[in-house]
Amino acid sequence: MKDRIWLSSPHMSEEGYELEYVHEAFRTNWIAPLGPNVDEFEKEFAEKVGSKYTVSLSSGTAALHLALLAEGVSEGDIVFCPTLTFSASANAIRYMNAIPVFIDSDEMTWNMDPELLEEAFKKHSDVKAVVVVHLYGLSAELNSIIKICEKYNVPLIEDAAESLGCTYKGRQTGTYGDSGIFSFNGNKIITTSGGGMYVSKDPEKAEKVRFWATQSRDQAKHYQHSELGFNYRMSNVLAGIGRGQLKVLNSRVEKKRYIYEYYKSALGNLEGIGWMPEIPDSISTYWLTCITTPRNASPTKIMRALEEDNIEARPIWKPMHLQPYFEKYECVGGAVSEALFERGLCLPSDTKMTDEDLGRVCKIVKRVW
Ligand SMILES: *Cc1c(COP(=O)(O)O)cnc(C)c1O
Repeated sequence: MKDRIWLSSPHMSEEGYELEYVHEAFRTNWIAPLGPNVDEFEKEFAEKVGSKYTVSLSSGTAALHLALLAEGVSEGDIVFCPTLTFSASANAIRYMNAIPVFIDSDEMTWNMDPELLEEAFKKHSDVKAVVVVHLYGLSAELNSIIKICEKYNVPLIEDAAESLGCTYKGRQTGTYGDSGIFSFNGNKIITTSGGGMYVSKDPEKAEKVRFWATQSRDQAKHYQHSELGFNYRMSNVLAGIGRGQLKVLNSRVEKKRYIYEYYKSALGNLEGIGWMPEIPDSISTYWLTCITTPRNASPTKIMRALEEDNIEARPIWKPMHLQPYFEKYECVGGAVSEALFERGLCLPSDTKMTDEDLGRVCKIVKRVW
């Protein structure tokens, strides 16, 4: 059996930065959901992304949950959310017992279509927040989306779980909205094995998020709680991994972009192949390189052939409005995300891949074609 090629797997620094911080946590006995690594990781992350206030949490999903709470979403409120996303974006809306209304993608960005967002606002008046997602390291059309949110005076939450390192007009995606979230799950561009970050320009929101994430403990010696609390803080051990990973983020972005360029030059001549879009005013990370395929080379066929060679690939996210759990909720539009799901394929984009590995993938894709 040939060596496994993964879609996107954890990639610790060759220098061993992560282990140094983890050792430090052991040496000083900070094996707790607080400690110096947590404080430093938050500071270093804030500096890296250019967001003033940061709170490290146990997952990106936890960050989304508390972002919705910070933006004042409550039971029965409507929250707009792209239909083409990973379920976590929509699950968090349901944790609040709020009602997701899904918005289709546009072909220009594969992300939330601003025209459909405007259309959705014309239909609904009780909207409490908009969640925008930057899929696969591609920025959404933030310019129009921000304008629409301002026009209707509704807060914007950016789900930047897949877009750490991706900038829009020179600034990190995830730092434009009222609240932003990042993920350090094992498959993301950098990882803490599991973890997330909440970011905001508003110190009060960040402080509230920190408070809720620490079981909402009031300022009192005895344990007193005037609000519902959560246990969502990040471990000091894992924050150590995060600090080390942050040092190699730039090289991970470069490698992801290299992988995309490699595929594009090796497979660009295939008849009918489509590529993930180039976003104006943005530097994409291509967290996963995605293509669309014609009838003769279905994503299923390619995935099967790759799997026979021990290579992992994946379809593009199945839209939320087609998910058994979410299909009862409204979706504005839907044809673009449905087509992307049907014809789209995520090629292995693991930053540990060598040129030889990339060549192995391309050879199989060409053969199926
Ligand atoms: C991974 C991901 C999340 C959730 O992050 P976790 O850290 O795994 O909870 C949310 N949204 C999107 C788009 C993601 O890809």
